[in-house]
Amino acid sequence: MIKIIDGKKISAEIKEEMKIEIEELTKGGKRAPGLAVIIVGENPASKVYVNSKVKTCSALGIYSEKYNLDSEITEAELLKLIEELNNKEEIDGILVQLPLPKHIDEDKIIEAIKPNKDVDGFHPINLGKLVIGKNGFKSCTPYGIMELLKRYELDLNGKDVVIVGRSNIVGKPLAVMLTNENATVTLCHSKTKNLSEKTLNADIVIVAIGREKFLTEDMVKEGSIVIDVGINRNSLGKLCGDVDFENVSKKTSLITPVPGGVGPMTIAMLMKNTVKSRMEKI
Ligand code: NDP
Repeated sequence: MIKIIDGKKISAEIKEEMKIEIEELTKGGKRAPGLAVIIVGENPASKVYVNSKVKTCSALGIYSEKYNLDSEITEAELLKLIEELNNKEEIDGILVQLPLPKHIDEDKIIEAIKPNKDVDGFHPINLGKLVIGKNGFKSCTPYGIMELLKRYELDLNGKDVVIVGRSNIVGKPLAVMLTNENATVTLCHSKTKNLSEKTLNADIVIVAIGREKFLTEDMVKEGSIVIDVGINRNSLGKLCGDVDFENVSKKTSLITPVPGGVGPMTIAMLMKNTVKSRMEKI
């Protein structure tokens, strides 16, 4: 029988816990945590993500403000809005949905967000804090993967973990988080030689590259754990990950599905970061 890591179930549990935490937090008239979500332009996938974040806020009792900005907005105008939100009392977290239109420098925008409101954990200060083991905001997707592993009580001590994909928002921060939990991490990318040799030796394989059926059954060892971060559309328009789930799952001891694996955890951790930001101001 295929053993699944159920991200949908775990994220629902986390959200339930947070709902109670927020009720506690707002007792006696204290203000609720607040999240500002900014979307620029009409990217359909971004719209879905943003709407789902705002909806989750409202379900948990988190105050939210949504800014739908025209794709023609200038970088200076966007920076001005971020500055206003940086100084706004009711706002504990600011999220700018990526990607941004080409004429706007994403790095400049991320760096304009106050590190103590950077609930996406993308600011260099928060990434730096992660590396040196200080308390900051952790990027939501890798944080969500770590939470999944924790809630399934998987011991990471001395485990060989291979991550495929080295982006600043998934692979790199995840490599640090796993290292901090005593795993031995190999971070792979498009220039890696003999990738299969590495994945075949891994206790845990995590794939985050964005290519359908990239990880095949001949690339994983019997009994390994596979985490699929990818979000792709197959030729039928169906959502799928980077793993050939049907065949790889015959060999794994645990595997995440797409949808219903890592995806729901990302939003749950965003909410967790927003609540943490509010708590730190009390
Ligand atoms: P990026 O496009 O930023 O990075 C992709 C990485 O994959 C790069 O490091 C690249 O290597 C590597 N790569 C590409 N092709 C190969 C290959 N053939 N062999 C080995 N490595 C390869 O991706 P993201 O990290 O932003 O996203 C990855 C996937 O995860 C996407 O499908 C995205 O939609 C999904 N995602 C899902 C989230 C969720 O909540 N579930 C959140 C974020 C992303 P190189 O650096 O050498 O170019």
